[in-house]
Amino acid sequence: KQRVLSGVQPTGNYHLGNYLGAIRNWVEGQSEYENYLFVADLHAITVPHEPKQLASDTYTLVALYLACGLDLTHSTIFVQSHVSAHSELTWLLNCITPLNWLQDMIQFKEKAVKQGENVSAGLLDYPVLMASDILLYQADKVPVGEDQKQHLELTRDIAARFNHLFAKPDRPVLKLPDPLIRKEGARVMSLADGTRKMSKSDPSDLSRINLLDPPDQIQYKIKRCKTDPVRGLIFDDPERPECNNLLTLYTLLSGKTKEEVAAECQDMGWGQFKPLLTETTIAALKPIQEKYQAITEDKSYLESVLRDGRVKAEAIANQTLAQVKAALGYSVPL
Ligand code: ATP
Ligand code: MG
Repeated sequence: KQRVLSGVQPTGNYHLGNYLGAIRNWVEGQSEYENYLFVADLHAITVPHEPKQLASDTYTLVALYLACGLDLTHSTIFVQSHVSAHSELTWLLNCITPLNWLQDMIQFKEKAVKQGENVSAGLLDYPVLMASDILLYQADKVPVGEDQKQHLELTRDIAARFNHLFAKPDRPVLKLPDPLIRKEGARVMSLADGTRKMSKSDPSDLSRINLLDPPDQIQYKIKRCKTDPVRGLIFDDPERPECNNLLTLYTLLSGKTKEEVAAECQDMGWGQFKPLLTETTIAALKPIQEKYQAITEDKSYLESVLRDGRVKAEAIANQTLAQVKAALGYSVPL
């Protein structure tokens, strides 16, 4: 089986974009692959964070992974900071990564502009940490949203450079991963602006639907979300990004095809469509929320999931790390 690796940062506000663009795809493909799914808590401190929240946001995310349907017979779930090889490989790869590769990353530029003076070296280095996450597990495939495509290309570039510099041509140390991109719904947009992606870090909670939002909150957010005065709802009109986004959400959450939704909604106004989307969203999230409640009642269960996950992840990660260190010429600790 091919190995797949992916993660979400434990920064709270887990939303429909994280589900439809990431977690749900992992669930759908899980039996086909050998999955390593982690909580990216080392990534979470590349921007200012709240220490009081980090551990609880981590547990919430693990519980959501399970509530969304990840099955431990196909998937290993672990916390990034529990496997120290992630930090260690990052240092080693830092030293072979040209600085200008990192300075060219779109996400860095965007986040750096937003933060002004407070940009940490960690924010610049984020893609090398991500490369380490992937390369440690010799992953074949990485399911990436549009926002992470450039980082995956960088991962391949770093791996190729490492192999070129330090491995024999016929015996590469690091495997170059391929992207796993889904066409539809790869990108869920903000409820407040159809040209920006839905994001955990958006300061406005009205910009996103969180997976743990109660029904009345979902109703309120959809009622308030940005639309346009045009009657008749259609996909793919560049002048109407909000319309396209809301139809796409409805498509993904209802399980209908794009054609079915296009036909159903072409003559609708927002007054008719919004209640439909509300009902569909509430119904889609209900089973996840119920399962989440059940899982979080037993903290020792979550702890045992993470203990097992760490042991399995370390077995592979430490092996790759040892190969990398050997290729770089390090002596073996006595
Ligand atoms: P942040 O604002 O902190 O970066 P985020 O919402 O972008 O938060 P991440 O933890 O960076 O979340 O990403 C987790 C996963 O969710 C990644 O696979 C990412 O591609 C996916 N993802 C994030 N936002 C969206 C979105 N709006 N649409 C589709 N997928 C998304
Ligand atoms: Mg992000």
